[in-house]
Amino acid sequence: MSFIRISRENFFHNISQIARKTQSVEKIALVLKDNAYGHGLVLMADLAKEAGVRHAVVRTMAEAEAVAEGFETVLVLADIPARRPETNIHIAINDWRQIEKIPEGTRVELKVDTGMHRNGILPEEVMEAVEKVDRRGLLLRGIMTHYRSADEMGSEFFWQRKRFEAVRASVERAGVGPLRWHSCNSAALFRTERFDEDIARVGIAAYGCLRMPAAFKTPPLKPVMSLWAERVSTRRLGGGARIGYGGEGSLPEGGTVSTYDIGYGDGWYRGDASAPYRLPDGRKVVGRVSMDLLSVEGDDEKICLFEDANEAAAQFGTIGYDILVKLHPSIPRIAV
Ligand SMILES: *Cc1c(COP(=O)(O)O)cnc(C)c1O
Repeated sequence: MSFIRISRENFFHNISQIARKTQSVEKIALVLKDNAYGHGLVLMADLAKEAGVRHAVVRTMAEAEAVAEGFETVLVLADIPARRPETNIHIAINDWRQIEKIPEGTRVELKVDTGMHRNGILPEEVMEAVEKVDRRGLLLRGIMTHYRSADEMGSEFFWQRKRFEAVRASVERAGVGPLRWHSCNSAALFRTERFDEDIARVGIAAYGCLRMPAAFKTPPLKPVMSLWAERVSTRRLGGGARIGYGGEGSLPEGGTVSTYDIGYGDGWYRGDASAPYRLPDGRKVVGRVSMDLLSVEGDDEKICLFEDANEAAAQFGTIGYDILVKLHPSIPRIAV
């Protein structure tokens, strides 16, 4: 069966690199949304707790409930609970309407739209929102924002940060708090000279797939996931044999070819057989990728599809996140 190998050592290495930047492992809020970026929600939550991480960020209530025990807080980015959740679960407020819908007594954090224009309350409306949150009987515990281009050169990051600092100054002047303030994702954290917020919401860096322009000093992070498939069958074929759907793959000289148990039904990219995917060992996938199978020359018992999702992503014209999160949750994740 195909499987995902999770390197405990690489994950702990990344967490310690990140903790050097936040100055404490306790300031890391590990982002576990989308099945922990495909790494396995509960598995990664357990490894994080083992590493001393106290805070988590997820997308849904179901994810929060699956991992909340043992974390000091779990922030839900995009879901409204039907009932007041456990006290360590915080709900992000992404717009005004949500303030009406969240059950009384829920702990909430307000998202401010400092320029990404995706979610959040406008900076000039934050004080009004804070008052409304209070009138509704919600318990405000934090204020946050998200950067739209922290991983790109240019000044946009800095003006967004300035806006957020201005919001903070006015909220603190009004005597609201204490609150936790947070703006950084992975890229923003590593662009920040001296980190001084309460937590950083770190996803991709913890999984070892942060890509930044070379000009930014990014620490050496190591990919946590590698993807493997096992051999289903092997055959020896004569010259000119054509392989798979459409016979698009061919072996002009003949040779040994094996099928492996992964395909686009598992969330692996189908790609384009005329520009075949190259494995880390240099061999190419032969012919079209099927729903549950693909073919490679040779007869190894198992093959590695990637050791670094970014390298696979580059071949498919996408980003590492996209490769990671698409891998089907039913593929076994094995921590080694
Ligand atoms: C996904 C997400 C993050 C984590 O981003 P990375 O680039 O993976 O570190 C942080 N904050 C919010 C609001 C997010 O949606």
